[in-house]
Amino acid sequence: MSEFISKNFVDVLQAVLGDGAAGLHEPSIDVDDFESLRKCLDSTFVSSVGPFVDHFEAEVRRFCGANHAIAVVNGTAALHAVLHALGVSKNHEVLVPALSFVATANAVAYCNATPNFVDISSDTLGVCVDKLDAYLERTCELREGVCLNLNTEKVVHSVIPMHTYGHPVAMHRLLDVAARWNIQVVEDGAESLGTTFNGQHMGTFGKAGIISFNGNKIITTGGGGAIITNDDILARRLKHITTTARLNGADDFYHDQIGFNYRMPNINAALGCSQLAKIKSLLTKKRTLYEAYKEEFQKIDQIELFEEPIGARSNYWLQTVILDTSVERQRRDIIEAAQARGFGVRPAWRLLSELPMFKHCPKDDLSVSKSIGNRIINIPSGASLVSRMGRRGGQ
Ligand SMILES: *Cc1c(COP(=O)(O)O)cnc(C)c1O
Repeated sequence: MSEFISKNFVDVLQAVLGDGAAGLHEPSIDVDDFESLRKCLDSTFVSSVGPFVDHFEAEVRRFCGANHAIAVVNGTAALHAVLHALGVSKNHEVLVPALSFVATANAVAYCNATPNFVDISSDTLGVCVDKLDAYLERTCELREGVCLNLNTEKVVHSVIPMHTYGHPVAMHRLLDVAARWNIQVVEDGAESLGTTFNGQHMGTFGKAGIISFNGNKIITTGGGGAIITNDDILARRLKHITTTARLNGADDFYHDQIGFNYRMPNINAALGCSQLAKIKSLLTKKRTLYEAYKEEFQKIDQIELFEEPIGARSNYWLQTVILDTSVERQRRDIIEAAQARGFGVRPAWRLLSELPMFKHCPKDDLSVSKSIGNRIINIPSGASLVSRMGRRGGQ
């Protein structure tokens, strides 16, 4: 049975991807990227000053339809800076989905606050809004406009919906719940550049959103991140604290508070500019890859390819399959069989609530995160794979 499902899985990947190895998500680098980097190197402005950062911020802002974009060194720093700017601190809790990359919870811990883990929905793979609402009803009380956790006596400051693998959380309903409980919404959109819901870009629903440009994300700056927001005051504050909180000009070393050296270097922004210029074509390719996988995975009853939620236009950052419970115990074998054939596949993250530094944090029932988390496999997803989808009958 185990060998049978593993073989079918590898056959499907092979049918779509053809011969040769395929990484999980390789960056798409072309001559424009070399040219942009060459221009930057020629200018000698490779570090913390230079025109590419301003240009990149303007392009991110325009692409996302946000009023402001602040480029920073990585997505984790972006999240930390936002939470810090919003005043998250000791005695605060921040609601975090149990199924996420560790950065989501780490950023909360950097502010000396405590993550409070909530469950996900099988429809979106992100925060389950109904369950979150019920959890708040059960454990919290609004006191003078402040959401107080009655079990821990801490203030629930905010919630971080994470748009898993590029698929959006049900933001409209989440915003309703957050407004009722007077908690802030910060979107971890590290994976969702290019994803929209009803035409609106992720990261622009909440108070602020973050994006990552790490090497494995949909576009890359090497390492990098950005914060997007429509809030003018928050944007100014974020630009200030991510650039060492210097007032006045460049030669007056007057810093009015403890800031962070989180500014994105010019050379990274140069790569970001050429990468962002081709995002539309990358998004199209990723959708083509999705369609090809969809056709092939129909042949395996016990494996389902995850599809964008209704109303969403996902970027399909990481293509995701979910194993039926009848074969979940074979996940390790399936992954190893695919890896042996040179395909970059991996399981979902371990639940954050089970990591040593977070296992004592408050949490809701996490049954869906547990069940789905144990059955996810991410499969090769890079846009460049489309050019080699050779063995598909002349396509
Ligand atoms: C990639 C990622 C981050 C952080 O991004 P870095 O740029 O690597 O710091 C944060 N959250 C999630 C969900 C991510 O996938």
